[in-house]
Amino acid sequence: MTAAEKRIRGTREWAVADIDCCTGCSHGCRYCYARYDGVVKKKRVSASEWQHPEVRSADVHRSFPLYPGTVMFPANHDIQPEILADCIRLLHNLLAPGNSILIVSKPHLLCIEEICRTFNNSRRQILFRFSITAIDNRILQFWEPAAPAYEERLASLRHAYSRGFQTSISIEPMLESEKIEELVDQLSPFVSHSIWIGKMNKIKKRVSEDTPQMAHELQRIRKEQNDENIAAIYHRLKNNSLIRWKESIKEVVGLELLRQPGLDI
Ligand code: SF4
Repeated sequence: MTAAEKRIRGTREWAVADIDCCTGCSHGCRYCYARYDGVVKKKRVSASEWQHPEVRSADVHRSFPLYPGTVMFPANHDIQPEILADCIRLLHNLLAPGNSILIVSKPHLLCIEEICRTFNNSRRQILFRFSITAIDNRILQFWEPAAPAYEERLASLRHAYSRGFQTSISIEPMLESEKIEELVDQLSPFVSHSIWIGKMNKIKKRVSEDTPQMAHELQRIRKEQNDENIAAIYHRLKNNSLIRWKESIKEVVGLELLRQPGLDI
């Protein structure tokens, strides 16, 4: 496969560049690609260090160029109350040259309120993408144990939407695909841009099947995202103009894959 034919996956579907200012994330998602990359693959930090986000001051204070497309922040951690001030400082620097920013988060309401307040005058440069992967808090609690509950994520979405920011959703990974339409219906009134749907990727590599409950959950997830069920979800939602499909679903249903980063925002 040539470079030009290389598949565009993950965050590259959405952005030409990923920006971060922190190592680690205490949300503890069991499928976390960033933890797998930092702890298991590259061994930059230990598993316990990963649980305590460490701000990288040099990244907070750096200046940025004007990128040739949308820039995503953050990509390998989240915006959490304890690092909010640093994230806001970085966002100032990133917005200054005129960049368009995709802010991706499992949102804490107080963080979103503060970002909306601070960047009210730059709201046309900001698109929020809130990760809301299930309605059932028992499922969220298992898979994303320290991330905000469904109600707080929904409240954050409503807040950003009511303040005139562009809003979008990432349902990736789908953790409760049996209720995907109900989830889409509940979120849609507060979404101005798009709702992305994707599978849980690289399960064998990234998720450790260390307890009977995990084995049971993985069995459920694998069944819910088998090709037959993915095709059924696609056919039920394909005429909804807000819905966008991640590469993991495009390849199942035969949609054309992206050839250049950042074009499918
Ligand atoms: S919020 Fe994102 S970075 Fe943090 S643990 Fe979850 S998947 Fe990983």
